[in-house]
Amino acid sequence: MESGLFHRASDLERAFLVLAGFTDRHTPVPSSPDHGGRVEDLGLALDRMGLPGAEVAACHQVHGARVFRVWGPAWPAGDGDALVTTVPGLVLGVRTADCVPVLLAGPGGVAAVHAGWRGTAAGVVHAAVEALSAATGQPAGAFRAALGPAVGPCCYAVGPEVVDALAHVAPPEVFVASTGVDLRAVVLHVLASLGVAARIAVPACTACDERFHSWRRDGRAAGRQAALVALRP
Ligand SMILES: [Zn+2]
Repeated sequence: MESGLFHRASDLERAFLVLAGFTDRHTPVPSSPDHGGRVEDLGLALDRMGLPGAEVAACHQVHGARVFRVWGPAWPAGDGDALVTTVPGLVLGVRTADCVPVLLAGPGGVAAVHAGWRGTAAGVVHAAVEALSAATGQPAGAFRAALGPAVGPCCYAVGPEVVDALAHVAPPEVFVASTGVDLRAVVLHVLASLGVAARIAVPACTACDERFHSWRRDGRAAGRQAALVALRP
């Protein structure tokens, strides 16, 4: 993994004509577009991504399963947790502190997904793959996914209601470890079941690894990292 700043999803970038990756705490990211965050505050992240001054679309994230297809900049696009586009040069962004950021790419389209336990249990990953398929006319098997930094099972002890909810989309033996729940394992299971080849691009646990923001570790003071993806302009 590259040290600091912008952690590229090189698997996606090699497979398709896209720019994709994840920031860490060294890059400021507005926490919410509709609570005072300004899209201009993503400037440094866009520089590091390789698309300085690019137009951005992001949602007001609500831990649900709604996906927006976007054709231009939108900040926020609305209440939802995933974005899809086929427009070259338009950057899709989601913000996370422990939840799983998922970037999807395929021939002619990209998607960005905010997948916490609630959204994952509600089917946001499946919904994003379907929306990308509808937008590009490609089957799920034509896509690849990259998962970014997220809380690991080492630091994600949860109540039985979380395990029960996630069991709707993956069998517990896939994601329940002795120390906690492995959210990325749930997402990988869902993607595999849809036929999407997926890799973890940044294996760090956000709560253990101080390079990243973590809600579990820092509580209300936690910042956010951005997961960004765009078709090359
Ligand atoms: Zn950890």
